[in-house]
Amino acid sequence: MTTATTTRPTSRFFRARVSAITDLSPSFRRFTLQGDDLADYGDPGFDQRIKVVFPTATTSIDDMPTGEDWWTAWREMDDDARPPFRTYTTRYVRREAREVDIDMVSHAVEGPASAWIANAQVGDELLIFAPTTAHEGVSYGIDFVPPAHTEQLLLAGDETAAPAIAVILEQLPPDATGVVVLEVPDDTDAAYLPHHPGFEVRVASRAGGERHAFLIDAVTDAADRLAPAGRGAEVEEVDIDRDILWEVPRTAKGGAALKSAPLYAWLAGEAGAIKTLRRQLVTARGVDRRAVAFMGYWRLGRSEV
Ligand SMILES: Cc1cc2nc3c(=O)[nH]c(=O)nc-3n(C[C@H](O)[C@H](O)[C@H](O)COP(=O)(O)OP(=O)(O)OC[C@H]3O[C@@H](n4cnc5c(N)ncnc54)[C@H](O)[C@@H]3O)c2cc1C
Repeated sequence: MTTATTTRPTSRFFRARVSAITDLSPSFRRFTLQGDDLADYGDPGFDQRIKVVFPTATTSIDDMPTGEDWWTAWREMDDDARPPFRTYTTRYVRREAREVDIDMVSHAVEGPASAWIANAQVGDELLIFAPTTAHEGVSYGIDFVPPAHTEQLLLAGDETAAPAIAVILEQLPPDATGVVVLEVPDDTDAAYLPHHPGFEVRVASRAGGERHAFLIDAVTDAADRLAPAGRGAEVEEVDIDRDILWEVPRTAKGGAALKSAPLYAWLAGEAGAIKTLRRQLVTARGVDRRAVAFMGYWRLGRSEV
């Protein structure tokens, strides 16, 4: 007799209902999702990324293929029948209460996520593709992978990176030190980030100013102070209109690429700005590229998928 063994998946689609919507600031809206299905929602921490499937006027989350080969099945669907999904960050998991928070920014744009965020109501349902509690070891959905010994951390990005930066700050030990640079749409969004005793936080709004101007200036300034002058390394050009701007240095087993580094930088936001920041750090300042994670979270003028 053979015994069938079933192994639990390490990630899957979770179905949940919006139980609360909290406007934290003009740009940040917290969606609390609740449902029994969230009982084994995984929480590996830091900047754990997830996929959220949104309903639209013409598609339902029930149309989403959710089996093991969901990606292939989704791609094979007709364009207008496919439910759209976008990438977000798990903000809080309260497993006992079967609750998950996701902080979403509503942009004045045409995207399906932005439309849903602006109009969502308590009771609406979403699908979330996320790790389960069966997930062990390194999560490849976590891109904050600093060396074990890092003197300084530099966390920088725009409002889309703010939820990830917030979780990272909350989960770092109190003796961690570094600088956060965050550019947000509105002055009062600055209050979004939690306090960490070891971090200098530089937040500014772009209100009235050029997009990314503060981010680039402030990161350049922080790098001048934090990064010991090294020899610049040329980085390969990434065509951000064609390719994904994403590099997270790690070992084959998923751990940090270096054992120690004077500075570790985590940069996320609009691809054009992140490309400039990477050049500032690696080419102009000579920061070891194995200590720089950079992620184009979105691209001006382009949909995610
Ligand atoms: C790993 C990762 C984690 C993320 N975490 C979060 C998170 O926790 N919270 C959050 O709010 N966002 C987060 N984002 C960003 C989010 O995925 C995008 O903003 C999303 O694509 C918006 O979807 P949409 O349907 O509104 O627009 P899309 O259909 O993707 O794009 C439509 C138009 O909107 C523009 N657009 C897209 N995003 C923005 C933006 N941020 N500002 C201005 N214009 C934009 C595009 O350039 C395009 O012209 C994350 C992205 C990644 C890759």
